Amino acid sequence: MKNTISYNNTNHLLSIDQFDRDSVEKLFRIADMMKPITTRQKICRVLEGAVLGNLFFEASTRTRVSFGAAFCRLGGSVCDTTGFTFSSMAKGESISDTSKVISGYVDIMVIRHPEIGSVAQFANATNIPVVNGGDGPGEHPSQALLDLYTILTEFDKLNKTIDGSHIAIVGDLKYGRTVHSLIKLLSLYKGLKISLISPNILKMPKYLIDQASTKGNVIEEKNSITSGLENVDVIYATRLQKERFTSEIDIDSESSFQINLAKLNLYCKKDTIVMHPLPRDSRPGSYDLSTDLDKDPRLAIFRQADNGINIRMAIFSSLLEVDDLIERSMKDAKWKSPKILRPI
Ligand code: ASP
Repeated sequence: MKNTISYNNTNHLLSIDQFDRDSVEKLFRIADMMKPITTRQKICRVLEGAVLGNLFFEASTRTRVSFGAAFCRLGGSVCDTTGFTFSSMAKGESISDTSKVISGYVDIMVIRHPEIGSVAQFANATNIPVVNGGDGPGEHPSQALLDLYTILTEFDKLNKTIDGSHIAIVGDLKYGRTVHSLIKLLSLYKGLKISLISPNILKMPKYLIDQASTKGNVIEEKNSITSGLENVDVIYATRLQKERFTSEIDIDSESSFQINLAKLNLYCKKDTIVMHPLPRDSRPGSYDLSTDLDKDPRLAIFRQADNGINIRMAIFSSLLEVDDLIERSMKDAKWKSPKILRPI
């Protein structure tokens, strides 16, 4: 199949701006095809011999490991670097030089870097595919794709449709790159109400709201949870991106944006789903998404994280143009794995 992800006629995934509804849904059908592999029933070696360069110049657990695992589950191998301090960039090497050098070693790169626009610079200096794994407070397109895929999967179980739904995005909307990509993606759908709930100092950048509003959805900004959560179908909570703050913020405003069981029961419906890109800060006093929701079936965060593998496999097979080969090259997995992956 012709690659559904293209950027200036090259196979890079840099921004959600590259997608329309059709190409997103094509990618999701490829992600669906991966289910026998991600549920460990089947194996597939379509990327045998290919090497992924997983270059993370900022902290990561999920994105780095899930991109790596997705590549391995398609039969490829992974070379990793982690942290800025241990890279040649700490010796003054430019993005362009790093990208040109790594192009000689691997077949595709996933890059996370603290500066906005940096991953596009990597892409401009190479002819191998580059995937944006998070460029500072810019975008995190693979996260938004797996978030939307999760919303659609959860809605399917609840007999709901995304068109016409009400989605609340809560927390640090200024620096949270996942929500910057997510609002662009949601705006490809129709009749949505999107409530952006954040402290005044952490509001979603205006250009993103303007861009999303042109598509005809209702976007409202709220500075309090009490007025924003009623009748929502999805709560998408986020962590305060303290590593990007330039000054201290008032702790009281943090606590009032925490999503917990009491607030969910008070303001929301019985079938509201609760999402978070993770990590959540579970340390006492952190006021992130509360752990008192952990046994509530509305909490979708681990199902959401699991979907990251399907989506990232779909991204690789699309960018490397092997998606046509997936179904027919599956074989039975031989090892024993638990039916339920984690205690509930
Ligand atoms: N893991 C996500 C990111 O890298 C969200 C977060 O860190 O809060 O942007």
